Amino acid sequence: MDGYAVRCEDLGGSPPPIMKLVGESLAGHPYEGELAISECVRIFTGAMLPTGLDCVAIQENCSVDGTEVRLLENVSCGANVRPTGHDILKGEPVVETGKVISAFDVGWLAACGITHVNVVRKTRVALFSTGDELADPGNELGRGQIYDANRYALTQLLNELPVEIVDLGILPDDPERIERAMLQAGDSCDVLLTSGGVSVGDADFVKDVIRKIGQLEIWRLNLKPGKPLAFGRIGDALFFGLPGNPVSTIVTFLLMVKPALLALSGAESHEPPSFTAILEQPIRHKPGREEYQRGRLRRIDEQTLVDVTGDQSSNRLATFSEADCLIKIPKTCGDLTVGSSVCVLPFSGLV
Ligand code: AMP
Ligand code: MG
Repeated sequence: MDGYAVRCEDLGGSPPPIMKLVGESLAGHPYEGELAISECVRIFTGAMLPTGLDCVAIQENCSVDGTEVRLLENVSCGANVRPTGHDILKGEPVVETGKVISAFDVGWLAACGITHVNVVRKTRVALFSTGDELADPGNELGRGQIYDANRYALTQLLNELPVEIVDLGILPDDPERIERAMLQAGDSCDVLLTSGGVSVGDADFVKDVIRKIGQLEIWRLNLKPGKPLAFGRIGDALFFGLPGNPVSTIVTFLLMVKPALLALSGAESHEPPSFTAILEQPIRHKPGREEYQRGRLRRIDEQTLVDVTGDQSSNRLATFSEADCLIKIPKTCGDLTVGSSVCVLPFSGLV
């Protein structure tokens, strides 16, 4: 702090003695002289404490006349000083294995003068959309076409993770083209992420190709949205075949793919945070499938309320744009009335 560096041993007594000012210590410019009994040094925030002195009397509590400094209040040993090793002791770990290095950790590593740390290499994630109807934004839509939303949403979600994205674009509903792309991705990437083509339609070829060139380990979850999700392997690569409907794609990415990608990058697993909120609107739900609706939270009178963001059909990206959480509806649950307690997963912990 800004004030006078003194030795607490020289103080004592009431009123404290008058100290003799012999120099100054500024941030980056330490006072290097030796100090005799009852000598003090003008000091400023960020400056090093001169050798032999052990506390700082803040300037508001001192009266100064030339080189005479009178302390108006006593100071205790170590007062107003940040000791060496206050933040971390020598030999203590800065960042433990398994922790995702945050902006805070980077600051702390820098503060410790550490320039290099061992990290897990980025997971290579190949990504493509499937569908004869898809076109990239920026192009004219042909008859019966829609824009590819999933690859763009997934790319943005992946950008937040320690992954390298290999964008394989849009593939038509052509099993040969899909097979070639999957073999290429299986050879060169750690994870293959696709959307569309995993349902039961005649043009849903993705899971058939996986069955042919790899292993389909899971197909279909008791989940809404996201029922047709497929999971498997091609060689050493993991395969996630996400459903085509954009809401299903995003929800299954958040719930299944993101934790897997974090685990692959060495991060210790953790459940996304969740808490209880009070429903502001009824939700219709037939027991049978676990469901995740998009919700908007607000705090009123110490209570956390949650509102559903309109029609929850799985094609409606609009349900996400206003949302800040997923509302979890357990599979055994029936219709929920206004005022029911529900479990919510805030996007701040999910996305
Ligand atoms: P699919 O699982 O391929 O049958 O697709 C289910 C629905 O999602 C269909 O209406 C598709 O047109 C739509 N869909 C599939 N992929 C995408 C995508 N990348 N972007 C937007 N909609 C999609
Ligand atoms: Mg399709």
